[in-house]
Amino acid sequence: SKPSYKWRRVLLKVSGEALAGDKKQNIDPKITMAIAREVASVTRLGIEVAIVVGGGNIFRGSSWVGSSGLDRSSADYIGMLATVMNAIYLQATMESIGIPTRVQTAFRMSEVAEPYIRRRAVRHLEKGRVVIFAAGTGNPFFTTDTAAALRSAEINSEVVLKATNVDGVYDDDPRRNPNARLLDTLTYHDVTTKELSVMDMTAITLCQENNIPVVVFNLNKLGNISKAIRRERVGTLIGG
Ligand code: UDP
Repeated sequence: SKPSYKWRRVLLKVSGEALAGDKKQNIDPKITMAIAREVASVTRLGIEVAIVVGGGNIFRGSSWVGSSGLDRSSADYIGMLATVMNAIYLQATMESIGIPTRVQTAFRMSEVAEPYIRRRAVRHLEKGRVVIFAAGTGNPFFTTDTAAALRSAEINSEVVLKATNVDGVYDDDPRRNPNARLLDTLTYHDVTTKELSVMDMTAITLCQENNIPVVVFNLNKLGNISKAIRRERVGTLIGG
């Protein structure tokens, strides 16, 4: 049997920005391949991995509303479609190295991917397939962080692992304050009251209400994804 200190089922959130790497293109194939390799290394240990992908590398709804006159819902639907592009890319990369992977979309695109069906997603995970959840929650005005919290609660994953471009949560903005300290642990209450930019309020509240811990870590450091999934100390742990 599996040792209990490992996670059994995790929800990995990969933002669009993280996929972009040095930003020459929307997606950096080196990054998607690194993610695929690390995920492969943990699925071999029997850990079940679900992924929620963002879309900010291609289109972020909120940043188009003011300037373009586009209404928020339309902008957000474009944003959700962007996450589907990332999901298909990531799926293709995973399958190229032999990881069986299914994409499920929050709204129907049946020719491209399965629709989101909770029980079916869980069945895929039990069979050792990676499931990528795309199109966020399917609703405008939400984020893929909220989708990560929601899907984690729905499939009973034990943790949300938020892969970012920073080492974790700091007590101040490390780009502006060189003395900003990286925090090992935080409570949900810290996050909501100190206005630390970890995830949006909807997402963090959903995690809190369902007692789902969140680990914020840097995906650009080789080995970090598999460390986080294997429950080794990395980044900032939010809980309690
Ligand atoms: N989005 C949405 N509803 C959701 C998830 C995402 O409308 O449930 C849209 C929203 O416009 C968002 C875009 O999809 O800006 C891309 O997602 P997000 O910004 O969360 O991606 P990330 O920051 O993780 O790359």
